[in-house]
Amino acid sequence: MPLVTSKEILQAALEGHFAVGAFNANNMEQVQAIVDAALEERAPVILQVSQGAIRYAGLEFAAAMVKAAAAEADVPVVLHLDHGTDFDQNIRCLRAGFTSLMYDGSKAPYEENVAVTSRVAHIAHVCGIPVEAELGRVLQAADGVTDEEVRAAMTDPAQARDFVERTGCDTLAIACGSVHAMQSAEAELDIERIKAIHAAIPETPLVLHGSSGVKEESEVEAIKHGISKINVATMLNQAFTRALRESLAAFPPEESDPRKYLLASRDAVKEVVRHKMRLFGSSGTVTSSGFVSPATTHRTADIGGTEA
Ligand SMILES: [Zn+2]
Repeated sequence: MPLVTSKEILQAALEGHFAVGAFNANNMEQVQAIVDAALEERAPVILQVSQGAIRYAGLEFAAAMVKAAAAEADVPVVLHLDHGTDFDQNIRCLRAGFTSLMYDGSKAPYEENVAVTSRVAHIAHVCGIPVEAELGRVLQAADGVTDEEVRAAMTDPAQARDFVERTGCDTLAIACGSVHAMQSAEAELDIERIKAIHAAIPETPLVLHGSSGVKEESEVEAIKHGISKINVATMLNQAFTRALRESLAAFPPEESDPRKYLLASRDAVKEVVRHKMRLFGSSGTVTSSGFVSPATTHRTADIGGTEA
């Protein structure tokens, strides 16, 4: 089917207490792995490309790969811009056919974040495309952040309400204890803060970034309180590269066909995506007619219990 927007599937996720995985892709094998997992799991899926992926693959090429994969799929597939750094990049992606945008003004002063997010949202909404924004800051592990710095950068619930009202953004990435690009899942999310933000903006699906560094029990708990989109990037890269190293070591050095090496990487990424879809409760939410149905599920994941 053609690409769908993130609006409808994230509203269904919010109402159905599950989360849609947003998986970063940089190359063809990753795109195929993510969509294959979605097909087998009957899960809606968001494929997202970062600024780095756009630099690596090219904007039109990255968009074309995801569109081609979606066209062959009978589950909803979204093409999302991850961390669009400025207004112009968002407009370029809108023009290239992205069905979900993100403007990340979290490093800018608050009023500037409000102003630019509002401009992006206004233009995107004219074209029927939703926009994710970020408030508070999800820091980078490579910067060597302390617990105090993570806490100080967290999203303020009252400000979140003001921000969503003034910008009209459709979804909000919040800072609630995770850090980008952590190499192991050790962090606990601040569930009380997530509850407070959800209570302040109950109709806005919340987005978790930096999930690869978060304990899975904590992710499942967060899904019960408004987290409806969870970004997964580092874990996919780790799986891809680990499998590639293993295949390079397993074949004789004279084997020169790259396909033989990359098959294992594709399979490894697919298994991580499948695991996350089950954990997030999105597996099985796509009915035979291709629509995401919260009524069929109303469940959260296979660990941490369920919620009525
Ligand atoms: Zn992020």
